[in-house]
Amino acid sequence: MSKYKPLNSLEVPRFAEIKTFMRLPYIKTVEDIDYAIIGIPFDTASSYRTGSRFGPSAVREISSLIKPYNIVQDINVSECLSGIDYGDIPVVPGDIDETYKRIEKGLDPILEAGAIPICIGGDHSITLGELRSIKKKHGPVALVQFDSHFDTVDSYFGNRYNHGTVFKRALEEGLIDVGRSIQVGMRGSLYSIDDLNNSIDMGFKVITTQEMSKMGLKEVAKQIVERVGDGKAFLSFDIDFVDPAYAPGTGTIEVGGFTSFEVLEILRELKNINFVGYDLVEIIPAFDSTQITASLGSNIIFEFISIIALKKKGVRANEV
Ligand code: MN
Ligand code: MN
Repeated sequence: MSKYKPLNSLEVPRFAEIKTFMRLPYIKTVEDIDYAIIGIPFDTASSYRTGSRFGPSAVREISSLIKPYNIVQDINVSECLSGIDYGDIPVVPGDIDETYKRIEKGLDPILEAGAIPICIGGDHSITLGELRSIKKKHGPVALVQFDSHFDTVDSYFGNRYNHGTVFKRALEEGLIDVGRSIQVGMRGSLYSIDDLNNSIDMGFKVITTQEMSKMGLKEVAKQIVERVGDGKAFLSFDIDFVDPAYAPGTGTIEVGGFTSFEVLEILRELKNINFVGYDLVEIIPAFDSTQITASLGSNIIFEFISIIALKKKGVRANEV
């Protein structure tokens, strides 16, 4: 039923073999796959710390601990889905234009084949390349962004392409349906109140960490689901959404965030959204000495895969 699935760790020890995500086969194919894990190790559009180029390998390394059954969602992703580790996009450090072209070239065939890409950054600038590719297949999608920052600044250091400008560019290029898009988790000091107002003026719904805390996570999830509606969506998860006590391995930390438990809980509530792509960005292993950030990252991706599995199972159930 599932052509490609993880190695069975009851037969082959988790510490053995070459590390792919969740021990999936490393194969560059678009045949017979439901989803593909793709590393995009580009980090030279960061405004502060670099080093997220090592994010994909760090997440893969610790992801060997993930088992296929998600007890909260009651789904075995191995049984439902065929998934692969597609390897990395051959990014060009320092050349964001060429890197964007290569991201599109890498993602186009995966999307064309009807599979769902799950990308691991890299800094947040990579999402623009992903969304360009997504638009070709699916048209403009709703953006669901978990982040402690808006990433809707116009330019940094006179440059329009940066990890802090990515969603302003995405909007200008018509890649996202802003009326169904939502940014959640923003907190910390700003340059001015304009940072918040820019996002709102562009048409995003914004829920800050302060507001999330007041309304409770169930209500936040409900508002995300309502905002997105039935149409197609893209989930972009910047690891700095999480409190740095739980995710220290990132580039622009903001204190006063949510716990790892809360993060997984809110993602599970989004299972009925029609996501056509996902990414997880900004993990910097150099600041992650105990692998807790990469471990959370691998579990976040497992929740993405679980949502894909639930959707596929639901479709099957409806067909019967
Ligand atoms: Mn951020
Ligand atoms: Mn970001």
